[in-house]
Amino acid sequence: MTHEHEPFPLLALKSETADVKTLIFRGCGSKREFLDRKPGQYVEVSLQQDGTWSEPHPFTVANAPGSDIIWLTVKRRGLFTNRLHALQPGQRALITGPFGAFCSRLEQHTSIIMIAAGTGIAPFLSVLRHYQRAESALPPITLFWWNESPEDFFYLHLLDSFYFSMDFSAVVISQHPFSGKHLKHHRLSTIHFVHGELRAELIKKYTPLADAAMYVCGLKDSLTPLDEQLQELGVAPHAVHREFWTHPL
Ligand SMILES: Cc1cc2nc3c(=O)[nH]c(=O)nc-3n(C[C@H](O)[C@H](O)[C@H](O)COP(=O)(O)OP(=O)(O)OC[C@H]3O[C@@H](n4cnc5c(N)ncnc54)[C@H](O)[C@@H]3O)c2cc1C
Repeated sequence: MTHEHEPFPLLALKSETADVKTLIFRGCGSKREFLDRKPGQYVEVSLQQDGTWSEPHPFTVANAPGSDIIWLTVKRRGLFTNRLHALQPGQRALITGPFGAFCSRLEQHTSIIMIAAGTGIAPFLSVLRHYQRAESALPPITLFWWNESPEDFFYLHLLDSFYFSMDFSAVVISQHPFSGKHLKHHRLSTIHFVHGELRAELIKKYTPLADAAMYVCGLKDSLTPLDEQLQELGVAPHAVHREFWTHPL
């Protein structure tokens, strides 16, 4: 298999939680497609093993466009993501893309509901970082971010900063209860902290569903029940934009 791209060197890794890391790669400045990428797009990553490049795996670019630096916020799951987490600065990965059109044309909506499960927050971080930096107006946004445990959340300070720079609010939902430690830590936050399941009724409690465009991202198995509940509440299928992560096999 031949590749027209040079592999990207890893600049740094940042641990977000026990099993999520952000990998920061530097591309080559002449690669126009990476400079011109849109917020919310993904890339495909291959690692070298035994002299060949592995099958590509998709990951969403979590930083704003406009530079040749690529941030990937990756949850450790199986073999490939464990290898990504074990990369050392200076080692290289083959990165192709960008691909996809998730979150394109956000400006045309009246209001936006973003729903993320786990690292499914990555495209929304890219979009929100982009609009925060560009200082251009977006419709009102409510972000719902579900995780299994309070220990799985990261970047809460960043969500606070979005609240202060745009019409934005965040509801952070944990399946396991928040402890006194977390609640004390979050007391001054602008975020709503909720213990429970990611359910359509919960979303409806915080923001009107009618006329909102919904963007939903994360592993398909975590999000399919919610998708069905939204339809039951009368949300039109075309109002829901899905980036469901499935295994291709
Ligand atoms: C568009 C898109 C964007 C994504 N963005 C992110 C992100 O930003 N952060 C994040 O944490 N996850 C993201 N994912 C999910 C991520 O790609 C998978 O979780 C990851 O590839 C699975 O790696 P693993 O370590 O479990 O792989 P392995 O242990 O190597 O394989 C696990 C299983 O995945 C199957 N598999 C083989 N090829 C692929 C492939 N190309 N993609 C997925 N599975 C494959 C294997 O056959 C096996 O059954 C995204 C998925 C998609 C479709």
